[in-house]
Amino acid sequence: MSKEKKLPGWKSLPIGGVILNPGSSREYNTGNWVRETCKWNKESCINCNLCWPVCPENAILVDKAGNMIGIDEEKCTACGLCITACPTNPKSLKLESKKLEEI
Ligand code: SF4
Ligand code: SF4
Repeated sequence: MSKEKKLPGWKSLPIGGVILNPGSSREYNTGNWVRETCKWNKESCINCNLCWPVCPENAILVDKAGNMIGIDEEKCTACGLCITACPTNPKSLKLESKKLEEI
């Protein structure tokens, strides 16, 4: 009988997908050319923050206490990942068309 190789636990894996020194990329308004944006409904939000780690544009805004406070529409590219992650889907986050003067 062959010995089963033990896989490493998740705590021993290196951190991946985290840019510790983003440089000037925080200044880029990645969403200001997109015709849609994500809108947040504070009333139905349960403040779970599951949307925050999945946003590739750092567009989910949280305060120092970790409470969600909105969406930076200048950075949001309307990818919809946060909507998929949100347990209240489709109540708290949804994509909406921008008005022409907002583009
Ligand atoms: S739609 Fe995409 S870019 Fe916009 S806030 Fe959600 S995850 Fe971020
Ligand atoms: S995932 Fe949904 S419920 Fe959770 S903080 Fe984000 S918007 Fe609110």
